[in-house]
Amino acid sequence: MKVVLQHLTKTFPSRNRKNPEDVTAVNDFDFEIPDGKLVGLLGPSGCGKSTTLFMICGLEKPTAGKIFFGEEDVTDLPVENRGVGVVFQNYALYPHMTVKQNIIFPLQNLKGAQKLTKVQMEQKALEAAKLVQIEELMERKPSELSGGQQQRVAIARAMVKMPKVLLLDEPLSNLDARLRLQTREEIRRIQRQTGITTVFVTHDQEEAMSISDIIVVMREGVVQQIGKPQEVYDNPINLFVARFLGTPPINLFEGQAQGNGLYIGDEMVLPLEGVADRELTVGIRPEGFILTPDGPLSCSLSGVEVMGRDISVVSTNPHGLVASVRSIIDAENRVDTSNPTVRFALKPRKVLLFDRQTGERVAFQTPQMNR
Ligand code: ADP
Ligand code: MG
Repeated sequence: MKVVLQHLTKTFPSRNRKNPEDVTAVNDFDFEIPDGKLVGLLGPSGCGKSTTLFMICGLEKPTAGKIFFGEEDVTDLPVENRGVGVVFQNYALYPHMTVKQNIIFPLQNLKGAQKLTKVQMEQKALEAAKLVQIEELMERKPSELSGGQQQRVAIARAMVKMPKVLLLDEPLSNLDARLRLQTREEIRRIQRQTGITTVFVTHDQEEAMSISDIIVVMREGVVQQIGKPQEVYDNPINLFVARFLGTPPINLFEGQAQGNGLYIGDEMVLPLEGVADRELTVGIRPEGFILTPDGPLSCSLSGVEVMGRDISVVSTNPHGLVASVRSIIDAENRVDTSNPTVRFALKPRKVLLFDRQTGERVAFQTPQMNR
């Protein structure tokens, strides 16, 4: 089931008397979620992710715009008639009910032709439980489960009606790191297996990158960029998106295009084509540095962290816009820690240029691009 968001907008009246301006939580969100895909809605806290999700599920009414499930306009349809399954951040199971009763719950108020017998309900609950591998826990109470198990029950409950659309609002944020990893793989598996169109809300870029077919990056209610995770990482539309994706984050420097070169301070770090002389913000991904004694970019070494496969070289540069420069290089490299200066060459595809004022991406070519 494709989900079409058409100029979706939500404005809340101000609750602050000193600042009577309305809050536009979601501003003109226009996107068609393809059938069967998992879309990650990503952005910092307060950017409008939950509001978008609540509008899709019917808990919030849009101020403007429309929502379609397939060809059907569902904008004014109440939640219970939309055929959505929802998992919230605090998954709120009914504490006095067993796992089985919790999962069955959404099936109990089906009416008319949809009404199920007790045996049918139990059968469906078991199928949903198997999907998230909790069929052994059916008779337990939520208090007898770990956080991860409780979250699986919440997912089973959302899946039991075989929803047309599955909506997950930060479903992993209450789990510890290891469980988070495991549960996100689980969600991915279930989504692939069932082919249910899914919207997964998170503020965690790594989570969104790893789980999504498509990511949507939002900022202050406005969609910044939509694309496959790797495409958005490689080709961010602006500085905000570039900074939001990637760990360690992109390294930023003040730089200039001058003549046919890209300069950081007075070091020409790349030959440049197609950019008029101007001030720039230079972004370099951590994996974009090549450690080499004759490299054009010099930094002061502050430390070396060996992380198994890779080495993280931490250094500083007077033109750096962040406290330290973090580069990730292959562990086969030897870093001469007795030398206070490290020199780097740059991989052109890992260098991103932005307008110093607006943060918009600036395109460039370099003769080295094809290397
Ligand atoms: P996110 O889920 O990305 O953290 P939300 O969608 O919850 O963001 O919120 C987006 C913006 O809308 C925030 O500024 C938030 O304060 C505001 N907001 C959300 N819900 C309401 C509400 N019911 N009334 C007023 N403002 C709201
Ligand atoms: Mg939220």
